[in-house]
Amino acid sequence: MNPALSTSGLARIREFVGGRSLLAFDIDGTLAPIVARPWDAHIPDELQVRLAALTATRTVAIITGRAIADAKPMLGFSPRYLIGNHGAEGVPGFESASATYARDCSKWLEELRGDNEAWRASPGITLEDKAYSIAFHYRQAQPREAALRLVEERATRLVPLPRLIHGNCVLNLVPREAPHKGDALRALLAHSGCERSFYVGDDVTDEDVFRLKLPAMLSVGIDPEPGSAADLFLPDQGEVIRLLDEVTKMIGR
Ligand SMILES: [Mg+2]
Repeated sequence: MNPALSTSGLARIREFVGGRSLLAFDIDGTLAPIVARPWDAHIPDELQVRLAALTATRTVAIITGRAIADAKPMLGFSPRYLIGNHGAEGVPGFESASATYARDCSKWLEELRGDNEAWRASPGITLEDKAYSIAFHYRQAQPREAALRLVEERATRLVPLPRLIHGNCVLNLVPREAPHKGDALRALLAHSGCERSFYVGDDVTDEDVFRLKLPAMLSVGIDPEPGSAADLFLPDQGEVIRLLDEVTKMIGR
């Protein structure tokens, strides 16, 4: 994996951002620095300005684990596509299927909020209703490992069985049939009529995009784990601003 901002990395990026191209970004850990409390996260102004400029000439998509209602107020620009819940919300063509995902989630919530649920007696664990997925947060729990084991074990007894997505002190429960971020990106490429796509993400759910390995797509992973399928990498989130500057220069605005 080459550094995105090396000469060869930039030459590859140039091939994917010209003409009819889809520029897609994750939010947390990519556009917004990771913070202790997810509700405090924000996209810095200097990135907002650059993203707003990119929307004038390119198709921009945001693909996030957050619910759309939660993500939208974070954006000081209007992307053509805003996909939420790790791909389970907002993908064109999946509108009626999304209603099924919402039904699964409300069934899970009803069970998990029952009086005899062990996780409710464990301080520091909270349950977030994201409509198309649900999330157990355990950052405030002590010890965190025990909290994670507790909620994982509980989640694997739910019917239908959710897909479990591990995040930063969060365990996401997502309907198994729901599109993941890779499915979402593939659908957006088709829907937008774009010829190419450039994607930037930082986390395990972004690997679903990185692993697509479509000839029409180039990906950048931020501080990726060893074995990541990303094509290029940035060493840390603070470099995203330089990446956007380079992309803007290539586009010529
Ligand atoms: Mg992320």
